[in-house]
Amino acid sequence: MIAYIERFIHENDSESRPTDDEKDQLPNIRHSLDLQGTINCVDTGLAGKDFGGLYTCEPLALIRPASPDDVARVVKAACRSPNLTVAARGNGHSINGQAMSDGGLVMDMRSTEGNHFEVVRMNGETFVDVSGGALWEDVLERCVSEYKLAPRSWTDYLGLTVGGTLSNAGVSGQAFRFGPQTCNVAELDVVTGKGELVTCNENENSELFFGALGGLGQFGIVTRARVAVQPAPDMVRWIRVVYAEFEDFTRCAEWLVTRPEGESFDYVEGFVFVNSVDDPANGWPTVPLDPDQGFDPSRIPRTAGSVLYCLEVALHYQKTDHPSTVDKAVNSLLGRLGFIEDMKFQVDVSYVEFLLRVKHVEVSARANGTWDAPHPWLNMFVSKRDIADFDRVVFKRMLKNGVGGPMLVYPLLRSKWDSRTSVALPADGEIFYLVALLGFTMPYPNAPSAEKLVSQNKEIVQFCVSEGFDFKLYLPHYQSEEEWRRHFGSQWSRFVERKDRFDPLAILAPGQKIFKRVP
Ligand code: FAD
Repeated sequence: MIAYIERFIHENDSESRPTDDEKDQLPNIRHSLDLQGTINCVDTGLAGKDFGGLYTCEPLALIRPASPDDVARVVKAACRSPNLTVAARGNGHSINGQAMSDGGLVMDMRSTEGNHFEVVRMNGETFVDVSGGALWEDVLERCVSEYKLAPRSWTDYLGLTVGGTLSNAGVSGQAFRFGPQTCNVAELDVVTGKGELVTCNENENSELFFGALGGLGQFGIVTRARVAVQPAPDMVRWIRVVYAEFEDFTRCAEWLVTRPEGESFDYVEGFVFVNSVDDPANGWPTVPLDPDQGFDPSRIPRTAGSVLYCLEVALHYQKTDHPSTVDKAVNSLLGRLGFIEDMKFQVDVSYVEFLLRVKHVEVSARANGTWDAPHPWLNMFVSKRDIADFDRVVFKRMLKNGVGGPMLVYPLLRSKWDSRTSVALPADGEIFYLVALLGFTMPYPNAPSAEKLVSQNKEIVQFCVSEGFDFKLYLPHYQSEEEWRRHFGSQWSRFVERKDRFDPLAILAPGQKIFKRVP
């Protein structure tokens, strides 16, 4: 057992620095922890920042646990203190400080990423046990290369941790078929806010299981997840088709997502783009899948407006499949879609390449400085009832010049989501849309300031509220209990009961700003 603190915290002039009381607790915590992992009170930089780049804070210590036991010890130590909180940090890809703990303890879950990896067969189904701190890209790599298996439901970008996405939902173009990632998990190991390590599933400790899924980290820290997998295909035909009218786009997207399994594509997403050649981040150049494919604007009808719509689909196949079989399956589906004639782009890529497609965006954003700039992103679920009005005002008017990055919009099916989990969805109807405004802009003054983009997001949300739209924020961010109460609506009392039961002192995930630490 190696327990150490490298040095006590620096004094500095940050507003959010830990109080003297908090610093006084450090020696006690250090002695009581006896960790296999490490605790660092000096170099906590990683823990005070996130991908959003809008908030910073100064935690008391950054802990790199080696095992679930370490995680439990840290939480128990925080319980014994009068005011310490604990934030599990996945890969810190939150936007609004959700994985931070101001003056508290941050646990870098990535240090546990190698703790689990095992294929499990149960009741005729196959699963893989992975660590809560594992990156999905590593899960993909190992599942495919060692077992030719793969999880069924993904996010677009895989540099995210298993525990981080399961605390939210985890959504991509497979969710219409399999539901979000939170619905593709059979079992979890969770360290509760009381520091107890509990195995939970649908039948055993089910309140904790469903509470933790989509639970914004409020009920426990996920140290192991049993994720459903299926045989991995070799290849993917990846296709984009373009629409001038939102109504045609949504009709085709909804038709595809409501087809029976085996009679549709394996992946369905869509995005809005600016009807202009001039915008490299939001215009015509963002549509072709290959630099050799030209975008021929003469095909766009003269009636088209300020923005156009792209339906993005993919079909899985094996290398042994005859090309004509793949062509036939693809063409019979595309033949039913009324997109602009000849506005079709397609490439064949390996399955792994397809799932890692956003990695290229990361590489170029890191190179041009937009990865480290602030990302005031907005993610929402908007009911089908209101999506046409949302398009008319938000996409066509407010965002007619884009957001400097992808503007995703695609349909999902409520029946694929388990209402026992903690995720909040729009109130009515089977179909709702994911809307994601994902700007990658240069730091101010080379692009609009983060404040300006944040206020644009507020304007969009305010518009939805004032029109009475049926919507929820995805990856929500609120400051007051009143707003959280409204967010969860009829599920609020269940959420509070789960909190009282599993984290009564409100130790966990303080960065979500839902509950105040109980002294
Ligand atoms: P963090 O940001 O570190 O943590 C998020 C929350 O979960 C925090 O409250 C934290 O305390 C808690 N948490 C972290 N680990 C654990 C754990 N082991 N147990 C319990 N709680 C924990 N989301 C989608 O659904 N689909 C997408 O396609 C998608 N694409 C994205 C692309 C990019 C480039 C980025 C930056 C984000 C994307 N997201 C997407 C959002 C992403 O799912 C969330 O931001 C997620 O929270 C990030 O995961 P993380 O592992 O970095 O978690």
